[in-house]
Amino acid sequence: MRIVLIGPPGAGKGTQAERLVERYNLAHLSTGDMLRAARDAQTEVGRKADPYMSQGQLVPDEIILAIVAERLQTPDCQRGYLLDGFPRTMAQAEALDRLLAEQNTPLHAVLELQVPEEVLFERLAGRGRTDDQPEVIRQRLASYRRQTEPLLAYYAKARLLETIDGVGAVDDIFKRVEAVLDRFAA
Ligand code: AMP
Repeated sequence: MRIVLIGPPGAGKGTQAERLVERYNLAHLSTGDMLRAARDAQTEVGRKADPYMSQGQLVPDEIILAIVAERLQTPDCQRGYLLDGFPRTMAQAEALDRLLAEQNTPLHAVLELQVPEEVLFERLAGRGRTDDQPEVIRQRLASYRRQTEPLLAYYAKARLLETIDGVGAVDDIFKRVEAVLDRFAA
């Protein structure tokens, strides 16, 4: 199974992603985690990405596409994967389509975790990450609306979009995710 998980910051992508990869034995490809690891290790990618991340802005597409293309080559992606936090721009989505078309490995589904903005703010404020300061949160939500939301129409048109209500208990939300993915897992 090749799945994309989309949702605004604070939608619970990380939590649902952890369960999902375990339940369906998928490789977990989180560009946010990759970038945080690169930043901590002070690699060139990490140094370039850091100023964008700390301001809540998206890291330039060419940096992201390079790390994703490299990660998709690793053997553990053969069993299937979950892309978590990627693609986040139309350019990334189109580049992903080209990459997957070349390898003849199309996506099975794009899951959107849908959560109203006031709930997002509450959740993010309680999380305590360095990019969870109120001003940075506002910036990250604005980036999501401007750059990532257009992907929903794009994937709906491709008949890949599955919207999941992301409000409620973690277990209940995961049941909704399972109800969708069990169709592809057979
Ligand atoms: P996340 O943990 O997915 O919220 O990502 C944390 C930060 O990493 C984001 O606020 C962006 O600055 C950066 N980032 C992660 N994934 C991407 C992506 N696909 N495109 C651009 N920037 C990204």
